Amino acid sequence: MPELPEVESVVVRLRDAAPWAKIAACGQFRPTTARGLKRTVGRAVEAAERRGKNIILRLSGEAFLRIHLKMTGGLHVIPDAKLRKSTVRAWLTLDDGRAIVLNDPRALGRISFHHAKEERSLFADLGPEPFSEEFTPEYLIAAAKRTSKPAKIFLMDQRAVAGLGNIYAAEALFHARIHPAAPARQLSAKKLAVLHRVIRDVLELALRSASAAYEDPGGFAEAEDFPVAVYGREGEPCPRCAARVRRVAQGGRSTYYCPKCQK
Ligand SMILES: [Zn+2]
Repeated sequence: MPELPEVESVVVRLRDAAPWAKIAACGQFRPTTARGLKRTVGRAVEAAERRGKNIILRLSGEAFLRIHLKMTGGLHVIPDAKLRKSTVRAWLTLDDGRAIVLNDPRALGRISFHHAKEERSLFADLGPEPFSEEFTPEYLIAAAKRTSKPAKIFLMDQRAVAGLGNIYAAEALFHARIHPAAPARQLSAKKLAVLHRVIRDVLELALRSASAAYEDPGGFAEAEDFPVAVYGREGEPCPRCAARVRRVAQGGRSTYYCPKCQK
């Protein structure tokens, strides 16, 4: 699933396609993919932003589209709306002929139309952005004290910190030497301060890698150059101690960790 680095790279590419023309038409294959898409017609696309794993397309007339890419979605601009692939689930045709398309093989991505005044309540539950001033070691320590969740689930909780998912939560815990099942509230302030630092380190590396890996404009690309330590490496040697990486199920997802380094 695209996490902060991948969504950010999608947003950067969208910005490269600016300035955008007005939206002349729109379409979608399934009613579930997009809500209120027709209300975008006649509006201009003014900016592309990211909040957590959400993309915000700002529209003229005090409105915006919220796009969540879910597992396999990618949002990008194609030169001609008629040339869209069969995996494009929703599209906005611009009056210069180009189109902004949601290409999504698994069709789980979602788009919704909102008025600007809804923004605050729409994102009220999202925690701070990892690179914001608000995201301090003190913040993370306080947030950990308030939860009853294990460390990995805590990091994936968008209310605690926005933008982390299965891959980078596992990687950050490895670098902070924290067991994914350790109750977050029992972690020492010192460990949480390290965790705060490595979250930024991991995301920074992944951001660089995601923007380099995003070659196929058809969809979302994993951060392929990212030096993965544990994620997806069950049975392979830990890069630090050579013990075999383990996989456990946590919250319905796979969690990878080194049983020796992460205690
Ligand atoms: Zn290890």
